[in-house]
Amino acid sequence: MKKISDGIRTITDFPKPGIEFKDITTLLSDGELFRMTIDTFAERYRNEHIDMVVGVEARGFIFASALAYVLGAGTCLVRKPGKLPHTVHRESYELEYGTDSVEIHQDAFEPGQRIVVIDDILATGGTVGATAKLISNNFEVEIVELAFLLELGFLNGRKKLGNHKVFSLVKS
Ligand code: IMP
Repeated sequence: MKKISDGIRTITDFPKPGIEFKDITTLLSDGELFRMTIDTFAERYRNEHIDMVVGVEARGFIFASALAYVLGAGTCLVRKPGKLPHTVHRESYELEYGTDSVEIHQDAFEPGQRIVVIDDILATGGTVGATAKLISNNFEVEIVELAFLLELGFLNGRKKLGNHKVFSLVKS
């Protein structure tokens, strides 16, 4: 049987020298592996009464929408600054050099909703850590779990995620 991890390839020196870039386009282009990926997430959350699946820009959207469809949940976009058309909440976070921010619509959730946040890769944890803060500082919802296709364990991203539950399909 194929393994989900086999669908992720490493591109050396992209986008700059010294970086080992994890490329998931090979998983997305394999229908069997993509379906296995979504089915595995769906199995995990099937009985969790999830109302909304939150996708983090940009590859998180791919997984969030497919998972939301299977679960019969809504999907919601967390985007980089200036991309969402309605009024937003914003959370900033530190990068190696400088800062970045994530935004969400102010009317993204109803109080009490149960949500899963999903992204393709957990690296340093900055992006999803800010996303979790963005949601918990502004909404009365329950973040059931933060979910990833791939976790780069050596970067210790989990340390930035507080007490949130974290699930990764593949660890490297
Ligand atoms: P973090 O904020 O350092 O955890 O980085 C996570 C974000 O950067 C995610 O939205 C990923 O899509 C992206 N990212 C980090 N490393 C890689 C990589 O090796 N390949 C593809 N995307 C990555």
